[in-house]
Amino acid sequence: MKILVINSGSSSIKYQLFDMAASGRVLCSGLVERIHEPMGAIKHKKFPDSPEEAVFADELPIPDHKIGMQLVVDRITNGQTAVVASPDEITGVGHRIVHGGEFFSAPVIVDDSVVEKLTSIIPLAPLHNPGHLAGIATARELLPAAPQVTVFDTAFHQTLAPEAYLYPLPYEFYEELRVRRYGFHGTSHGYVFGKTAEFLGRAPEETSAITIHLGNGCSMDAVKRGKCIDTSMGLTPLAGLMMGTRCGDVDPAVYPFLAERKGLTVKDIDAICNKQSGLKGVCGVNDMRDVHARRAAGDEKAQLAFTMFCRRVTHYVGAYMALLGECHALSFTAGIGENDVDVRQQVCQTLGYLGAKIDAEKNKTLKRGQPGDISTDDSPIRILVMPTNEELAIAQQTLALLQTI
Ligand code: AMP
Repeated sequence: MKILVINSGSSSIKYQLFDMAASGRVLCSGLVERIHEPMGAIKHKKFPDSPEEAVFADELPIPDHKIGMQLVVDRITNGQTAVVASPDEITGVGHRIVHGGEFFSAPVIVDDSVVEKLTSIIPLAPLHNPGHLAGIATARELLPAAPQVTVFDTAFHQTLAPEAYLYPLPYEFYEELRVRRYGFHGTSHGYVFGKTAEFLGRAPEETSAITIHLGNGCSMDAVKRGKCIDTSMGLTPLAGLMMGTRCGDVDPAVYPFLAERKGLTVKDIDAICNKQSGLKGVCGVNDMRDVHARRAAGDEKAQLAFTMFCRRVTHYVGAYMALLGECHALSFTAGIGENDVDVRQQVCQTLGYLGAKIDAEKNKTLKRGQPGDISTDDSPIRILVMPTNEELAIAQQTLALLQTI
């Protein structure tokens, strides 16, 4: 019952091996990076030894994903870095896939038709799906005895109704090119929603909640009685909330305006919106901890970036409460959501009259990394902090699927 979770990007492979018989204990994790570059690297961390003793770092050329994956299998199974005696101990492999298009609403076992479908939607995720496909191909080759499962970031949002996923553009763009809202971070939202229902002691199909994933990328889901009915990201992970370096929602007329006035190409604008915007665009830094350091030093732009960031989250909470018609909880998660007392306080400060009353003291004193309730005792809607764990969720979904075959 050992599940290897792989997140294979265009130039990197992240991995974690879970022992599912031991409540999902992590046996090892690691990162292969700078694939295709003259010098690459692999960092392998073995648990539960102390971190100092258990980190093995090497620099070497890694010309392609196959060599990268060979290194991963080698570190897991050979010598002092090993955590299992042979690759045969790996029961299955779960691959994180950013974009499943409209094909996939649940995890699937990889076969040639899955690879074909993922290849056909490369235009929807040109930065991610090619790396995922390289990871799948090499894992299938190097671990032939382990079934491979794909788990999609888009799957949780496939329950959206057409009025939620369609854009008010000419309908043929949807028919011809499948231009629509897909939503991302679905594995995290689904996991956090499940944990929220569990925390409230309610059945998921009787729970309605707003999940608020605030990390480097930020997104929100409205989940009604276990089914996602809306999500803030769109065709790509650029839409919705303000993020570390991504702009989120902007009047689309800004793009042709900038093209004309600044002589920018579509590619330039895409890069600016993805990499030079958000917190970084407004105040120069993308990490929320740095934003706070600058605020504390009296930097007005950092204060503005913080206020803008929180305002948009509040805006979506209001919209989603109205769409849901009932709401049992707001659940904050990811790097900022789990750790940032100021962001949670600012987001929730005006939500009391909607039934979500934050308790400033509970918010401040909640232990980091722990799930908890930060609402007042009389708040009709609970405000929760629910740590996410996308890798564990992928391992759990992989194992659940493998147990059905
Ligand atoms: P993630 O993408 O989930 O790893 O989240 C990254 C974001 O979380 C960055 O903006 C970090 O500044 C933020 N973050 C991580 N730890 C903390 C913390 N202790 N306090 C405030 N923000 C944090």
